[in-house]
Amino acid sequence: MNYDVENIKNAAIAEVEGASDLKQIDDIRIKYLGKKGEITQLMKTMGALPADERPAFGAIVNSARGAVEDALNAKKAAMESVAIQNKMLSEKIDVTMPGVKPVLGSVHPLTKVLNQIKQIFVGMGFVIAEGPEVEKDYYNFDALNIPPTHSARDEDDTFYIDGFDDVLLRTQTSSVQIRVMEHQKPPIRMVAPGRVYRSDAVDATHSPMFHQIEGLVVDKGVTMADLKGTLSDFVNNLYGEKIDVRFRPHHFQFTEPSAEMDISCPNCGGKGCNVCKGEGWIEILGAGMVHAKVLERCGIDPNVYSGFAFGLGLERIAMRSLGINDLRLFYENDVRFLNQF
Ligand SMILES: [Zn+2]
Repeated sequence: MNYDVENIKNAAIAEVEGASDLKQIDDIRIKYLGKKGEITQLMKTMGALPADERPAFGAIVNSARGAVEDALNAKKAAMESVAIQNKMLSEKIDVTMPGVKPVLGSVHPLTKVLNQIKQIFVGMGFVIAEGPEVEKDYYNFDALNIPPTHSARDEDDTFYIDGFDDVLLRTQTSSVQIRVMEHQKPPIRMVAPGRVYRSDAVDATHSPMFHQIEGLVVDKGVTMADLKGTLSDFVNNLYGEKIDVRFRPHHFQFTEPSAEMDISCPNCGGKGCNVCKGEGWIEILGAGMVHAKVLERCGIDPNVYSGFAFGLGLERIAMRSLGINDLRLFYENDVRFLNQF
């Protein structure tokens, strides 16, 4: 009998060793250790033995059962570990593979040119100022020496807010000059970029909303020479050292004297081409010495202080810098257009 036990045990362990998957392991467990399994059956034969032999036989069968169980468990554990390893190998990530680059947006061309302009002025010691787009007509007109009868206040040009006759969408960033001067005593050196609104029909060069950049310098002894020097420096920073400037007399309500500034055509160098319409010069901004009445209204004594102001159109500068011929492209936000910058 003992010999049978040993044989069955060895056969079982050999089968376990030869098993190649978990299903076979289960089958072997049932074949030997299940209710009707060979080793279980051996236990049942014990009753036929003389009473004094039973304990020894029982111990041998139990030991065989234990050995087969151990073999089954060890094999199962080994198989599972291989399975896990294979799974890990098949799911391995190759960190040396090139990744998928996330799609990044880019800075809008107007913002790009605005940042460039701001950087130039900040480099010259200017601070950036802001003011409200919904403005009182006092800041947009009266304080800038634009009387109630002036054509600029025409309802056809200005968006007034319904229900108010003194609240409007600002038509110029010059309103920010007044707000700054009311709260800050000279020296003042600021640029105020922002949106402005005029009741214009949309075409290649007009939009009811566009951007201006207002500049203001107020201090003791500021002269027209400071205006010219500052704006020449600005243009040379923006378009290059070879650009010349010229000033033509002009009229603005809030500056006296006033001027328009032209730059020599960056495209032809002043010889004349289709960009400058054969002139050799391109108008770029309006400027002038701050009107004494404007200083006075803000509580700044024009006998002590003087200043200059200038205003430029961001879209016009951006169109020129980037070679764009239609203003509408800036606002349509067609990704094919924006991607070029
Ligand atoms: Zn030209």
